[in-house]
Amino acid sequence: MKPIHVLPLGGADPDLAEALAGPLRRTFRTDVAVREFSINPEQFLDDGRGQYNSTGLLLHLKDAYPPLKSGPGVCTLALVPFDLFIPVLTYVFGEAEVGGNVAVVSYHRLAPQRYGLPPDDALLRDRVTKEVIHEIGHMFSLIHCSELACVMHSSSYVEDIDMKEQSLCRICVSELSHRA
Ligand SMILES: [Zn+2]
Ligand SMILES: [Zn+2]
Repeated sequence: MKPIHVLPLGGADPDLAEALAGPLRRTFRTDVAVREFSINPEQFLDDGRGQYNSTGLLLHLKDAYPPLKSGPGVCTLALVPFDLFIPVLTYVFGEAEVGGNVAVVSYHRLAPQRYGLPPDDALLRDRVTKEVIHEIGHMFSLIHCSELACVMHSSSYVEDIDMKEQSLCRICVSELSHRA
């Protein structure tokens, strides 16, 4: 398995990024490092939508983050606090290059406060962990899974995320072992 680099970008909470390392090591059985890197997110801001272009960010990282520039040896996951979109969708929780080396997850829409509920750090961490495992699963060539509780099940709303577990189902674990 390729090692995983987690990059908290655009003012993302480094503690939230650090909390991912354990679950990612357990799930993907590979080295996980939280690395410092900085970008100017404003270049991805769509003024009309007030959101940031997810695909633009991925393309930029491939070009700008040295371990990605120098070859396909590292899976890189950017964690961002700002809202992401791709043109055909209102918003996305994240995006990944399937079978590639770069992915991004936003926690903008994962915080309970966004839905008028009190802050809940444990719930936020749980949702972020699931979405990050999901996008990294895509980097390791996993596709969407029909199993509702599997972390590779597609989520459009936070309620969908809350129905999933942090883990891959048995079929996805088996797929992962074949594709790695
Ligand atoms: Zn997905
Ligand atoms: Zn599955």
